[in-house]
Amino acid sequence: MLNIGIINECSDNEKRVALVPGDITGLKKKGLTVIIESGSGIGSLISDDEFVQSGAYVVASSEEVLKTTDIVLMLQRPDEASLQHLKDGQIIVGSIYPLRFAELVKKLASAKTTTFSLELIPRITRAQSMDVLSSQSSVAGYRAAISGAYWCKRFMPMLTTAAGTVRPASVLVIGAGVAGLMAIATSRRLGASVTAYDVRKAAGDDVRSLGAKFLEFGVDAVGEGGYARELTDEEKKKESDILENAIINSDLIITTAGVPGKIAPVIIRKETLQKMKRGTVIVDVVAESGGNCELTRAGEIVDTGNVMIIGPLNPPAEVPVNASQMYSRNLVSFLSVLIDSSGNTVDPAQDDILRQCMLCTDGKITFEPLSGGEK
Ligand code: NAD
Repeated sequence: MLNIGIINECSDNEKRVALVPGDITGLKKKGLTVIIESGSGIGSLISDDEFVQSGAYVVASSEEVLKTTDIVLMLQRPDEASLQHLKDGQIIVGSIYPLRFAELVKKLASAKTTTFSLELIPRITRAQSMDVLSSQSSVAGYRAAISGAYWCKRFMPMLTTAAGTVRPASVLVIGAGVAGLMAIATSRRLGASVTAYDVRKAAGDDVRSLGAKFLEFGVDAVGEGGYARELTDEEKKKESDILENAIINSDLIITTAGVPGKIAPVIIRKETLQKMKRGTVIVDVVAESGGNCELTRAGEIVDTGNVMIIGPLNPPAEVPVNASQMYSRNLVSFLSVLIDSSGNTVDPAQDDILRQCMLCTDGKITFEPLSGGEK
């Protein structure tokens, strides 16, 4: 029977854990053994004892986990120290971002692992329950709205009090994908007046259904897989004309715009920042992939004097308890595809989902952008 391993990823900005006790009980019933490095759950408020009660074995070091398990489940990716202990044929499941970490993919291939990167799972109906991009982006969107409300110098809701009436804060959400829609829903629940913008026309219906106003772009910039494509220079100019008025009249701006495989488009430029209202707050959810605001610095708060730009690092890890629960449920669903009913791993070549998110196997890189077409 297969052994599943979890190692401690509690780096400064990683508080999530890949499996939670409730899901381990279910895996155990299927005959799988779970081995966890001590302390892995601390950031998500899960003690070693809770893991033991759920039927997992807790061991002292990541080395013990890596040497004794067939499948290692991660939130992110193995570090240099972990690479030393990987075994031939071991399966690594994480969010590797192969284009950003191409050297690591080469090392995972040389170590003869079979590595799956969950952010590459195709967004098809069968894979919805294992869609880590959606589960974690929705946490990021929620957190961005809460963090924006915290830094905003105004109330979010409209208030009618004996001391007068307060108008609601004006929130602008740029990019109405998974994170953006959650930021809109959360800001609406807090009572703000919300406007949103996206280059995909279809996002308009989602935005309006949440009680927010949608800024029409007039061009449907949809590319491969239903995602947004990069805008042409002419379209970028049109975008900045449409957005300028909304940007300079907002109290809080939450930016989530992304194009798969590219750095985030710069949508709020320095010149626009100078025209904005004093005290405006920008929460740039895509700070780690370059940011939608020209002055965003990932992991920092930039204060221009009149605008505060927040560049969160790993925002889902700021709500670790629920982010871990959701990620863990995604992994259980992924394992149900990877492991057949007799408890053996299936051949990734036989399954669309596995094939599309596999990076390497048998010493070879299978992820096409890095393999140069060689399989
Ligand atoms: P993402 O993180 O790549 O981008 C976030 C949003 O930014 C997207 O809505 C995109 O259209 C928008 N954007 C890109 N460039 C922009 C620009 N210049 N200005 C304004 N907005 C810009 O995307 P995501 O949130 O991961 O997913 C969005 C897409 O994926 C949608 O089509 C969504 O319906 C689809 N999706 C499908 C499934 C599924 O079928 N299982 C699950 C989740 C998402």
